[in-house]
This record gives sequence, structure tokens and C-alpha cells, in this order.
Amino acid sequence: MLTIEDVIKGAKLNIGVHREALIRSAYEMALSAHAGQKRKSGEDYIQHSLGTALNLAKIGLGSKTISAGLLHDVPEDTEVTVQDIEKKFGSEIANIVEGVTKLGKIKLRGTKEELYLENLRKMFLAMAQDIRVVLIKLADRLHNMETLENLEPEKQERIARETLDIFAPIANRLGIGEFKNKLENLAFKYLEKENYEYVLKLSQEQHEQRKKHLAVVSRELQKELTKEGIEVISITGRTKHLYRLFQKLKKHDMNFDKIYDLAGIRIIVPEIVNCYETLGIVHRKYRPMIGRIKDYISLPKPNGYQSIHTTIFGPEGRFLEIQIRTKKMDDEAEYGIAAHWIYSEEKKGIKDFLFRKKDKVPEKELLWIKQLREWQKELGKDNKEFVEGLKIDFFKNHIFAFTPLGDVIDLPEEATPIDFAYRVHSEIGDRAMSAKANGKMVSLDYKINNGEVIEIITSRDYKNPSRDWLRFVKTSAAKSRIKKFMKKKGMI
Ligand code: MN
Repeated sequence: MLTIEDVIKGAKLNIGVHREALIRSAYEMALSAHAGQKRKSGEDYIQHSLGTALNLAKIGLGSKTISAGLLHDVPEDTEVTVQDIEKKFGSEIANIVEGVTKLGKIKLRGTKEELYLENLRKMFLAMAQDIRVVLIKLADRLHNMETLENLEPEKQERIARETLDIFAPIANRLGIGEFKNKLENLAFKYLEKENYEYVLKLSQEQHEQRKKHLAVVSRELQKELTKEGIEVISITGRTKHLYRLFQKLKKHDMNFDKIYDLAGIRIIVPEIVNCYETLGIVHRKYRPMIGRIKDYISLPKPNGYQSIHTTIFGPEGRFLEIQIRTKKMDDEAEYGIAAHWIYSEEKKGIKDFLFRKKDKVPEKELLWIKQLREWQKELGKDNKEFVEGLKIDFFKNHIFAFTPLGDVIDLPEEATPIDFAYRVHSEIGDRAMSAKANGKMVSLDYKINNGEVIEIITSRDYKNPSRDWLRFVKTSAAKSRIKKFMKKKGMI
């Protein structure tokens, strides 16, 4: 059972007395709001709020995000409203909680189609507007995955699939390895039980075998580096995480001997220059494998990942991968976009931090935008200015609207309720009579805005597409359906 003390102790960032008080009072509000509510496991609901908050604390987020994490299910599931939260904690926390509530309404039901999934991921990010909303959704999902055993098998499967298709890739895009790896491994466990067990067993056996080997190489390298006057912050053995390992095994006909980076050593040094010095020392001590030296410091991965990788032949000719990076790079690899909070907060000093009006700092917003830009570039779309402030407009020619049940319908810009109706189902298009956008009546040639909930009121008794509709519909599907209907009726 988790308590609020676990969350406060779990915080990577030094929170300070004032901020601790904020977290405690957010906890009090969540505790009384969720009082009496139970989860499927029979535990009190507050365990989920605490689990989510702890996940946020562990990746170094500050008290406002942790507090919003504690409150994230309050407006949706209890009598307490966003307005109540605003009155007590101010608009910043209230806005984050509201963003989480809104995002929760989107159904991320995916098809197998990669393009559709990619759109869902992008939409998810674009709708969030404040990156902290996404971080809370990821922490929330991680806790749900951690407690997935309590649900029925079909639900487990659906949630695990959604996690692998939508949430893990988003965590990866934001560079949060800590979340990505855990989400992938947990989803893997539920989606492919047998393969999971198999890989887990093999990995543990291999680890036992390699432990001694890793220890010997670590000791040798530590000695060499110290001799050369390089400060080593840490040198640790590591194993590849299970889902990635499984992906690699599949590529290599399940042959373990072909996986070079199954086990490895991570060396953390203070400065970038030390990384290259360390690489030289490693290669002098152990022969490197040709074609396995990767300099992600000079050429970072698209999600910002930086490190040097090299595979060496260790004692007895056993190979292993060595990763060399600075502390900052290591934190960024684990915590991604969240790491920028840690660094900016540490730099500014805790006092400055306490009295700063907002948690937001331009640099990290820039990084967030930069990463999204990289993402867009990778997708091969045109890379024009698509950012105004923090509102991210991915969709120059694209909008997303929702059905009243929360399904996502993607449409071209300036699409109308008739386009929407035909996109949902041709019968609905044919029988459309009137429409509502966000609960208000609109005309059938209304131009839908991104994110609106569109409801189509249909006629039970007759179909009524009209020539008039052809003037304003934007999708070819709607056009051809309308024409087809009129031809049948002899109207064309
Ligand atoms: Mn939740």
C-alpha cells in the first residue's frame, strides 16, 4: 500500500517545505474526493492517485505536476470540480487537471494501420497543449499497467495493445526511457505471455552467466580510468530490457548468440570530453568490434538521445557493449523531457524556484518543440513553421473531430458535418438532417474546428442527400456518395 510519504520520499527533485505542503494538501483533497471509491483490486481508489504521483515524482517532476497527478481523476470521477481545484490551487494546476480529463475522453481505439496510429499519437500530443498533461497521462497509464492483473483478460489485452501502440511510442518520442521501457515490458507480458516468459528466463540465465564477466571488465576499466585521471561518476552493469530483446531475437531467428548488446556496462563521466577519452581507454584495453562504434553524442538520435556505444571483446573472447555518457545525458535518456525540469530547477536554485511564478521555462518548451519538429521531419512531411507558442499545429490540412462516444474522425480542413457523417457511416450521411457541434446546433455547411464533438441528427424515415450538399462538402467520399444517391433517384 502506498502512502503520501512514499511519494514525497520518492521525489527525485529536492522538493522543499513549501512544495511539500502543496503536495500534501492536493493529497488531502484527492483523498476526501475519492473516499469510498474502490478499484477493481478492492484497494482504495487513492492508491491509483498515489501510484500515478509516485511515477511522476520518480522521473523528477516538480510539486505542481505531482499535485496535479494526485488530482488527475478527481473531476471525472467525483463531485469535486475543476473550479474547486482552481479555487484551492490556482489556475495552473487546475488547467493541467482539466487537460488530463479532456484527454481521457478521447478513445484511442486503434486499427492496425500504422498511419492511423501515428495520427492518434500526434493528435494526443497536440490536444494536450501543456506537456505536463501528457506526462501525467503516461504516469497514469503506467500505474494502470502495473495493476493490470486485476482486470478481465479482454480488457487486459485491449489496454496492453493501446499501451504498445500509442503510449510507449509517445514516451519514446519524449525521450522518457524509464516510462517507455516499463510500458513496453508490461504490455509485452500481457500480449505475448509465452514469449515473455521465455525471454525472461533466457535473460536471467544469461545474466547469471555474465555477472562475473561484467564485474571483471568493470573493475579493469575503473582501474584504467582512475590511472588516467578520469573521474568516474558511476560504472554499472546493465541488461537489455525484455521487449527490445525480444524484437532483436525475432530479427535474428531467436538466436541469442547474435545479440551483441544483451549485456553491457554503462560508464558515466563528468564532461563530454571525458566520454571520448574514456572511449580511447576502453579500446586500448579491449579490442572493439568493427562497425559497432556509434557516436550518438555528435549525432544524437531523433528523440535527443546522446551516448557513445561500442562493442568490445572482453576476457575469454566474450563481447559486451559499453555505453559512455555524461550524467546529464543519462538523466535525459531516462527522463527525457522531464529531465529539463530537473536541470532548470537545480540551476536556478531552490529559492528562486520557490518564488518563480510558473514552472515553465522557455528552454524546455523549445526542446519539446524541437523534438516534435524532428518527429515531423522524420515523417517526411513538410517542415514549415507549425508552432505558435505552445499550441502545436501539426495539422495544416487536417482536423480531428469526435463522435459523442469519443471516437476520433480525421477530416480535411474546412470539412462540414456532412463530411463527418459520411466518414462515420454512409447511412448516417444519407440520413443526416441537422448537426450539433459541442452541443450547439450548427448548419450542415458549418466548418468543423479541430477537437469539436460533432453529433449528427438523422432521420429514421427517409434519406435526403441534396444537390446543395455538393457545393460545400470537402471529402471525395461524401461527394461520390451523394452523387450515387442522386443518380439512383434519377436526380442527375
Ligand atoms: Mn487515472
